Amino acid sequence: MTNTQTITGSCLCGQISYQAQAQILFQAHCHCQACRKNGGSAYAALAFVPIESLNWQGQTSTFSHDADSGNTMTKHFCGHCGSQLFGTNSAKPERIHIKVGTMEDATWFQPQCNVWASSRLPSTPIDPAIEDL
Ligand SMILES: [Zn+2]
Ligand SMILES: [Zn+2]
Repeated sequence: MTNTQTITGSCLCGQISYQAQAQILFQAHCHCQACRKNGGSAYAALAFVPIESLNWQGQTSTFSHDADSGNTMTKHFCGHCGSQLFGTNSAKPERIHIKVGTMEDATWFQPQCNVWASSRLPSTPIDPAIEDL
């Protein structure tokens, strides 16, 4: 069964907005240090969609860094208000993740697993129904 969602969202200041009519390829909480620093929160909620299904208005700023895997990770954010919006991985150029917190309505979001659960903060509760990865 495919999980297709109509997604809209924006950065905090509204200079960048986006829409996707997208099949959700993967959805997860990520507890890695890169996601924690990038978002400034205890973990990141991410939804991965086919890159061609996402459209945005406004110019994102980008920052690229190398992951431990050797892949290049690129973050898209608003250069005005700093909100983190999207991210890509050079190993999987056909998909992009959207930061779930920037969506207008993410009530459908249901993480399939906890990525990098081993590096989560001790205070972060883990839903036992969700797989660790
Ligand atoms: Zn903004
Ligand atoms: Zn991460």
